[in-house]
Amino acid sequence: MDTTIERMPPVLLQATRSGLNWPTPPVFGRPEDERRHLKQRLAAGFRIFAMHGFDVGIAGHISARDPILIDHFWVNPLGVHFSRIKVSDLMLIDHQGQVVEGKHPVNAAAFSIHSRIHRARPDVVAAAHSHSRNGTAFASLGRLLPPTTQEACAFYNDHAVLQAYGGIASELSEGDLIAQSLGQGKAVICRNHAHFTVGHSVDEAVFWFLRMERAFEQYLLAAAAGTPVEIDDVTASLTARQVGSHSAGWFGLQPLMDKVLAEQPDLLE
Ligand SMILES: [Zn+2]
Repeated sequence: MDTTIERMPPVLLQATRSGLNWPTPPVFGRPEDERRHLKQRLAAGFRIFAMHGFDVGIAGHISARDPILIDHFWVNPLGVHFSRIKVSDLMLIDHQGQVVEGKHPVNAAAFSIHSRIHRARPDVVAAAHSHSRNGTAFASLGRLLPPTTQEACAFYNDHAVLQAYGGIASELSEGDLIAQSLGQGKAVICRNHAHFTVGHSVDEAVFWFLRMERAFEQYLLAAAAGTPVEIDDVTASLTARQVGSHSAGWFGLQPLMDKVLAEQPDLLE
């Protein structure tokens, strides 16, 4: 018997009355370390978006609140493909829209929407958005995501629909509308546009975007074949508590995050 290898105990997902006990994100003693970590996760988040095909044209942005200048946020440069974004490409902008750090242009819609979300939701660290295939298709229906799958239950009673569509959201007033519709939820579906997701970490916001995109796909496939059966309210609420927590969202991305960081180390440059 090999006794020289010390093995980590398995991480068990333990059921509690309020949901499941998930592992939790790292905590940093120094804000500089937290900032470095946040920027690395943000750059990796764009690589993950590219892997999923959320990279058509120039649409899409993920923002992350700076842990030192908390009324500033990091966002992607306009016109750089998500698969090529590095930490050094990230743009730091303040809530007045001024570029504080970075060498690229910034999407006006990224500023007008994300600045309002970050202002309205002090708890939110990151917000994610792109014009994904299923997200844009489902958004044209102008309806909530019904709880027909376990994935969809993560959003049960925790997302909203913005029914107003007024073209590209380049005005702050439109960012306000999206932030108001989002409320205290984790996602908002903007009719005729696409969905936005938020989280207490970059990983969480990105994971909810992926998870919602998958839930849209499941619904659209099922609805094309028949009439999907909705999960009842009590069970959908229970499932939401089990799979929809902040730590569940963060932990859900870890396998993919680890893979991207291992396979694309240039993103850290
Ligand atoms: Zn958009």
